Amino acid sequence: MKKVIVIGAGISGLTAAVYARRSGFEAVVLEKAGSPGGVSTNWVRKGYTFEGGVHWLIGAREDIPLHAVWKETGALQENNPVYFKDPIYTLVDDKGQMPLHRDLKELEITSLRDKLALASLRFHLACFRHFHSPVTDMVGLKSRYPRGFHPMEFVRMLPAVIITPFLLMESASGYARRFKNPRIRNLLKAVVDPDINALSLIYTLSTFNTGDSGYPKGGSLLMAQNMADCFTSLGGEIRYRTPALSIVREGDTVRVQTASETLRADAVIISMDARKAIDKLFGEPLQERWAQRMRKNLKTTQCMFIGMGIKADLSAYPRSMQLVLPRPFTVAGINYKTLIVNNYAKESDYAPKGCTVLTCLLHGNSYDYWAAAKADGSYGDKKEETIALVIDHLSDRIPELKTSVEVTDMATPLTYERYCDTYQGSYMSHWEPLTRVPHAPIRYAPRIYFTGQRVNFSGGLPPAAVTGYRTAQTLCRDFGVEFVSQGLPQF
Ligand SMILES: Cc1cc2nc3c(=O)[nH]c(=O)nc-3n(C[C@H](O)[C@H](O)[C@H](O)COP(=O)(O)OP(=O)(O)OC[C@H]3O[C@@H](n4cnc5c(N)ncnc54)[C@H](O)[C@@H]3O)c2cc1C
Repeated sequence: MKKVIVIGAGISGLTAAVYARRSGFEAVVLEKAGSPGGVSTNWVRKGYTFEGGVHWLIGAREDIPLHAVWKETGALQENNPVYFKDPIYTLVDDKGQMPLHRDLKELEITSLRDKLALASLRFHLACFRHFHSPVTDMVGLKSRYPRGFHPMEFVRMLPAVIITPFLLMESASGYARRFKNPRIRNLLKAVVDPDINALSLIYTLSTFNTGDSGYPKGGSLLMAQNMADCFTSLGGEIRYRTPALSIVREGDTVRVQTASETLRADAVIISMDARKAIDKLFGEPLQERWAQRMRKNLKTTQCMFIGMGIKADLSAYPRSMQLVLPRPFTVAGINYKTLIVNNYAKESDYAPKGCTVLTCLLHGNSYDYWAAAKADGSYGDKKEETIALVIDHLSDRIPELKTSVEVTDMATPLTYERYCDTYQGSYMSHWEPLTRVPHAPIRYAPRIYFTGQRVNFSGGLPPAAVTGYRTAQTLCRDFGVEFVSQGLPQF
């Protein structure tokens, strides 16, 4: 039996590990943290569960090919049925509320310009109606349950392929500005980071529009734990709190060093952040051109996350809100005029009875600010100040926050860096208009593979799963091993 070591029990590492194990590899996963999931996680503080990862899962709809991967890796099971929220977001401002529904109904369209913008948005969503990440066999792969790419699939995806270059030229916020109504602009800006390209906005909206993208009950951690359990039930082994320190290729084996032992395997799959791995894992930093491009050109997506446990029932408020702030404010040099707030009041078991969890995501790159605060000893104070500032501003729209906040917690990019060792504490690569995102190859060298968010051009859970799947296939093909999925139907 060939042996593979997987570095990292995030979504990509676990996906690769499950398929490698199913295909007959002896598989050991080394994980730095104490639980699976990587940056896709949630945690409990004094009885309140803070969801710091998945907000929507693409491939939740059963007839999307990616769904088979979520099933085969155990990510989606009977214990975590998916909830498909509608509206996707609700704008809350001085005028009241305006929902962004999956079918775009009820948008406040009052001008000809907005009518045309809505028609063009509907057209773009129609083009993406059949678009999805292909989950197919690589050329030359021996597969127990072959998965091909039907020519009709390509034909159905062609409209999306044709308009993609145009969407790559524009930013998501530029696209939102096609609308005259500032309320609609603000709503669209909630869907994805407004600075990234419009392709990400249209693709994400299209997944909602076609009835995909839901929230699995129990959120990120249950989903990741399901995957970890699936892997161990197949005979795989996960070693938590065991960071890999270095990798050396020695003839027909790869040596992986941890703090306490030296492990040997036929191959290694690196699912930790490749941007970090190229500088840390190989003795000398990698100098290949792709690695240099990554060092030079990679831009990261970061966020500050605030979780609040509220001693009040906030189920009258919408599930996901884009709050337009009466008083804008600045944190870490970033000005916030709107804030995204997720309300888990209707989620059972997330808070004590009669209480509510709210989470708030502050987009923007703040790594340098927090690193400087850490260096000068003001990190803890600045976190407390930020939490107080955010609660003060949120309470303009949610008055219960003035008196009823019982528990708070904040994650900065330094938190993600500390737990998951991601580059600048980021959780995705930042894909701006007219740029290419540098990424790592799946097979770096014989017996050494990469997988995960930096192997794809952007990031997120679907690329994590798809790259995990691809990496396991590449491993099988290189070793002449039959690739074994469960052969679940894709349509
Ligand atoms: C707040 C937030 C919201 C998000 N919302 C969504 C969403 O709604 N939908 C969506 O699709 N995506 C979302 N994402 C993005 C998504 O969660 C990530 O892109 C994805 O989980 C990345 O998975 P990965 O396996 O590539 O990387 P990671 O999660 O970074 O996994 C890498 C693993 O390697 C481990 N590791 C690191 N160094 C070592 C080492 N030396 N030895 C051993 N182990 C190591 C880490 O601890 C980690 O577990 C969100 C992310 C965040 C932070």
